[in-house]
Amino acid sequence: MVQYTKITYEVIILKIETKCIQEGWKPKNGEPRVLPIYQSTTYKYDNSAEMGDLFDLKADGFFYTRLANPTVAAVESKLAALEGGVGAMLTSSGQAATTMAIMNIASAGDNVVCSSAVYGGTFNLLGVTLEKFGIHTTFVNPDDDYDTLSKAVNDRTRLILGETISNPSLNVLDIEKFAKLAHDNNIPLIVDNTFATPYLCRPFEWGADIVIHSTSKYLDGHAVSLGGVVIDSGKFDWEAAGKFPELTTPDESYHGIIYTESFGNAAYITKIRTQLMRDIGVMMSPQNAFLLNLGTETLHLRMPRHSENAMAVAEFLEKDPRVSWVTYPGLPSNPHKALVDKYLPNGASGVVSFGVDGGREAAEKCLNALSLAAIVTHVADARTCALHPASATHRQLTDQQLKDCGVKPELIRFSVGIENIDDIIEDLDKALG
Ligand SMILES: *Cc1c(COP(=O)(O)O)cnc(C)c1O
Repeated sequence: MVQYTKITYEVIILKIETKCIQEGWKPKNGEPRVLPIYQSTTYKYDNSAEMGDLFDLKADGFFYTRLANPTVAAVESKLAALEGGVGAMLTSSGQAATTMAIMNIASAGDNVVCSSAVYGGTFNLLGVTLEKFGIHTTFVNPDDDYDTLSKAVNDRTRLILGETISNPSLNVLDIEKFAKLAHDNNIPLIVDNTFATPYLCRPFEWGADIVIHSTSKYLDGHAVSLGGVVIDSGKFDWEAAGKFPELTTPDESYHGIIYTESFGNAAYITKIRTQLMRDIGVMMSPQNAFLLNLGTETLHLRMPRHSENAMAVAEFLEKDPRVSWVTYPGLPSNPHKALVDKYLPNGASGVVSFGVDGGREAAEKCLNALSLAAIVTHVADARTCALHPASATHRQLTDQQLKDCGVKPELIRFSVGIENIDDIIEDLDKALG
């Protein structure tokens, strides 16, 4: 089984730009300089006792790619280093990461408190699918004050979940407020850091306990491979909390191992792999991990450019009479400006949303007139792309239903790429007619 190492001095002193390039794959003498793709389901051992030690979690090594693979493990260790965690587990998609992160500590009868400003897939996962398995979610307005929010937490609540910058509403989470709420109730805060990436914000530094990502977005950065990751800060004290028997009492499916006893502050990230990945099998393929690794090598070059370009687009749109409103966290007029200054001082990422004056039809017309920006469902990669939810992902809804779920009929979600900013703005200018 993969052993999780404590954060070393070396990891702490390296700057994030260096970590993007150097963390993860560390070849020994004569080994390939670049992370190889270990395209193998299985691993050979000289005798069965050695293999037995791996199954007993006593030795460090690989035995089956559903549980761990050297290519995948190298990228996991890079992502853990980027966020400042003790360990990480890659998954086949962002959805799989969210599902596993919750299921690792919540069972039938437990509750989750979740910000209502979250990705639609997360909203359905919690509101519909996990509900069927007996895990109930209370959605809260993330901008409510501490006292109002605390009414949503009860003695069966096992975690709180929110997004640093929410997709698609672009709300900014007050991570410290939510971390306090979680810790006052002896439960962890899980933050989906997909849109910010560890380059722009590291939620562990503000008190979050677990970070998840859809790596399909900026971490990959090129829209080539789906993936997700769960990263453990190692800071939450599961024993002291007294609410997580799955981590603090014997696991009969693993020879009665007690995760907190055997793995210390890597208990959560060890259990999620040895128990949940073993049973559910939503692992990332070595090929996708290789591609993800290439993407992360330039994260520190791409994120400043995405943020800069998005800011320029937002400023252009804000001044334009053909546009009725603009939402971009980085704009001085944004209602979350104080939170942006605190949590996102190096940029507010690449996604802008705006309303075209003239409603649903005008927005659709604008979208169709774009030529550089492609119409795609995806967001957050190198190429500028756009989506009109009212005529795509939400097309079955009436204008009233759209308003009720916070997606205005005239809304265009614009994911600003890293092309030359003048070309992006010229394209938008022409499309607005
Ligand atoms: C896209 C996205 C997800 C889901 O990730 P997939 O890789 O598409 O499964 C989860 N959270 C956020 C914030 C996202 O943007």
